[in-house]
Amino acid sequence: MNASLPAGAHPSPALTPLDIGHPVYAALIDPDTAFWALVDKTRVADTLAGGELLGLYRQQSDACRRELQALRFELQPSGVYFNPTERCNLNCAYCYLPVAQRRGGRHMRSDVLITSLGRLRDYFRSIMPDGRKPRAIFHGAEPLMNRDAVFAAIEAFADDFVFGIQSNGTLLDDRAVDFLTTRNVSIGLSLDGPFAGITDATRRTWSGRSVHNRVLSAMDRLRGYGMWSVITTCTTENLPYLTAMVELFHAREVSTCMLNTVRCTLPGARAVRPADAVFAHAFFAALNRTHELYRESGRKLVVANFANVLIGILAPTARRLMCDISPCGGGRAFFALAADGSLFPCSEFIGLPRFNGGSLLTGGVEAALASEAFRAVIGRDVDTFAPCGECVIRHFCGSPCPAEAQEMHGGICKTGAFCAFYKEQVNYALRLIADGKADDYLWDGWDEGTEALFDLAH
Ligand code: SF4
Ligand code: SF4
Repeated sequence: MNASLPAGAHPSPALTPLDIGHPVYAALIDPDTAFWALVDKTRVADTLAGGELLGLYRQQSDACRRELQALRFELQPSGVYFNPTERCNLNCAYCYLPVAQRRGGRHMRSDVLITSLGRLRDYFRSIMPDGRKPRAIFHGAEPLMNRDAVFAAIEAFADDFVFGIQSNGTLLDDRAVDFLTTRNVSIGLSLDGPFAGITDATRRTWSGRSVHNRVLSAMDRLRGYGMWSVITTCTTENLPYLTAMVELFHAREVSTCMLNTVRCTLPGARAVRPADAVFAHAFFAALNRTHELYRESGRKLVVANFANVLIGILAPTARRLMCDISPCGGGRAFFALAADGSLFPCSEFIGLPRFNGGSLLTGGVEAALASEAFRAVIGRDVDTFAPCGECVIRHFCGSPCPAEAQEMHGGICKTGAFCAFYKEQVNYALRLIADGKADDYLWDGWDEGTEALFDLAH
């Protein structure tokens, strides 16, 4: 990683130089506390020998350590991913849910759904400060397959939760959009290609029919609504089209999208896993295009998964997603409820029975959090396993994903699928910071209410 830096430029055991591929700057990072600074790459050895930066580092490192400790080990759950059905009307190539469930599984009964949300409300009330509402995200399979039960629950618990729904978009008709938008429910859709031939390669109905145009229609219905986003899952099938993808999103006034790495937990996903270097190239080209579009139009398209990495570097506690911190958010910041009433650390584990933490209604959330299934995930600490424990950027990467690591590499304390990509992503983020462009890739006002622990531009 540091090959192009001056030999011997490592006198401090804590601050480690990192070549980020920038013409002028290198990074100095304390891997333990996530303190970092950008310095003239020709002056790394001098900087480490003494001076203003080292003084600041000594002053701030305890505060950084405390902040990271709180983020990594002292959070309590504030959200639930709620699966109201096992069924889906699509058969996506990389889905993390077993085929038998998606094709022939059960819906959660409406009364059980209501009882479950009541139990969850009581749990969150017991641990969250007054006035703060937990988040409940209806998730898939396809939640709108069980639409009447979901909508009845949103009505019944309108005062108790901040609701969201992650949908494939094919069932989002006018009535559904009207219901959800008038209740301020955040809505996530999925689209994998800029035209049908590419979307169809990974996302189709069980009989092989295209859903591309139906998702575009749903996007048209949501245009102008403040709380919607679209996920593109990046695979071998759509990598050459990621730039066209962000052009389509920008043209349709999407303000937030995700270009997610395909999670390789189940074999179907591994079959469309792109190579890290190819993925990095396509991903950065798409990010560069979002920046050009912003400069041309004055309108941002934020790529949320990348924005989260940037924010994780700039202000760790302001991050919104919890895959790139270790332990990750699964079982810690949130948990998942499967349609049969079982609790899992994250939806990504629902196809893996040994990570079932027990029933919500007969066992409860506390019992699940204390279960062996959850403790394995909550206890996955990036400091403690190889090669991540020696990695300079481990607290900007988080070594996702434990479910993927378990299924791909035979153990939860292994790396997942995209280690080399994550390294390049952090380098890219640090280059943007060095060039003073980071804000262009973030939501306006992202840092309101955050406190800068250090703010050095060398
Ligand atoms: S890293 Fe994996 S298990 Fe953890 S929150 Fe992300 S998807 Fe869920
Ligand atoms: S997965 Fe790779 S980049 Fe991430 S912490 Fe581990 S070694 Fe570092």
